[in-house]
Amino acid sequence: QKAEWAKLVNEPTVSKDGQHVELAANIGTPKDVKGVIENGGEAVGLYRTEFLYMGRDQLPTEDEQFEAYKAVLTNMEGKPVVVRTLDIGGDKELPYLHLPKEMNPFLGFRAIRLCLEEQDIFRTQLRALLRASVYGNLRIMFPMIATLDEFRQAKAVLLEEKAALQSKGTAVSDEIEIGIMVEIPSTAVMADSFAKEVDFFSIGTNDLVQYTMAADRMNERVSYLYQPYNPAILRLITMVIEAAHREGKWVGMCGEMAGDPIAIPILLGLGLDEFSMSATSILPARTQILNLSKEEAASYKEKILGMQTTQEVIDFVKTTFNVE
Ligand code: PEP
Ligand code: MG
Repeated sequence: QKAEWAKLVNEPTVSKDGQHVELAANIGTPKDVKGVIENGGEAVGLYRTEFLYMGRDQLPTEDEQFEAYKAVLTNMEGKPVVVRTLDIGGDKELPYLHLPKEMNPFLGFRAIRLCLEEQDIFRTQLRALLRASVYGNLRIMFPMIATLDEFRQAKAVLLEEKAALQSKGTAVSDEIEIGIMVEIPSTAVMADSFAKEVDFFSIGTNDLVQYTMAADRMNERVSYLYQPYNPAILRLITMVIEAAHREGKWVGMCGEMAGDPIAIPILLGLGLDEFSMSATSILPARTQILNLSKEEAASYKEKILGMQTTQEVIDFVKTTFNVE
């Protein structure tokens, strides 16, 4: 099977009926790019920049960040790279910021909330990204967006930093797409409004499932409620994809679900454009998609969305698409 996969490293991901989807990789450091290329990744769909900030005792400088972003963009050789701005908080702490302990860190002062408040941190990262943008195909993504106001503020800060750099004569790409993660239910519900303003969505199911089911993603006791295939989640995903496509925008997914063999036929049928997963899942996913018809998968959309329980969805996918 490994040998079969290896033949697909440089092949595009096309369904049996000729529809292309993008298979991208999630990375945490510039070193991970090697594995993306070796496994045939068509893009980086999520660069989790938190790791630049973790395991040290002070913030990374603008130049340190610039070097990391430049390395990723350069080594991806013009293929798209979605860089997520700092998503600290929740399970990822930065002791040197000395933030007060919170009762519910997953519902607290984190990610874009922190960045819009502590703007020095945010602006430093944005400058590093903008300076690196000329070395490849950069897409910038904001995490944990809950309201349109947050997106507008974050985008305004980005455009301010861009204008400031350009007025100093620094080259910045004019092709940078600006998108958001959809990982909070309010944003999925309001996707039609967001779709008019963002360039793309990436659905973060790791958090979207946790927040929709009100089940902590780290808590074993409630893990039975952590159900990516619950029809409630599938309906939210569908709302996001339909809203985006009505505005001509693309939608990816960068939660664990995107690489799951049970999810892939469902998501293909719902019209997901980009699947971002751990690099080692890419060739198995490509093999699976080559053997699926998108049109056939889409023909089950209403049936699946009308199901009552998670188990019903899983059983249907296993028998219909021959998934283990
Ligand atoms: C997600 O929430 O699905 C996601 C990809 O982000 P993280 O796992 O880093 O929270
Ligand atoms: Mg998340």
